[in-house]
Amino acid sequence: MSAPAPRRRKPASSTAQRSTRQLDAVYGVLCASTAHPSAEQVFRAVRERIPTVSRGTVYRNLAKLVAAGRVRIVHVHDRRARYDARLDPHDHFQCLACTTLVDVSPSRRTDDVRQPTRAQLGGNRVSGRVVTWLGTCRTCTPTTNARRG
Ligand SMILES: [Zn+2]
Ligand SMILES: [Zn+2]
Repeated sequence: MSAPAPRRRKPASSTAQRSTRQLDAVYGVLCASTAHPSAEQVFRAVRERIPTVSRGTVYRNLAKLVAAGRVRIVHVHDRRARYDARLDPHDHFQCLACTTLVDVSPSRRTDDVRQPTRAQLGGNRVSGRVVTWLGTCRTCTPTTNARRG
């Protein structure tokens, strides 16, 4: 009579620990950056820490963080989602030339952006606003200094 074979089942914790580590790595990349990286840029940064991580895992974890309200998506003109771990109200500026996206402190004056009337809104109710200013960043703006030498 032999002793029962030791259970070869993988302990559930190892899978759980790995997915927690991957989620933490994705969140860590976003917290460490003020550049509002795209999903692809987050994937590349996470892969530097966890070389075996898959693109799908990173994208899934981004979606989880957004669903949990720990991270928000900044919608920009080229329609590629950019991710932001900073959750306090703030506006953004995006360069149309190089797609650099930076934070802008929101104005205290509420009339800087006039809220549409109920008629303009077709009866819908406003609960907040998101502003992304578009333009050309300092790096992409041609300067006359270059000519002066
Ligand atoms: Zn630029
Ligand atoms: Zn931001």
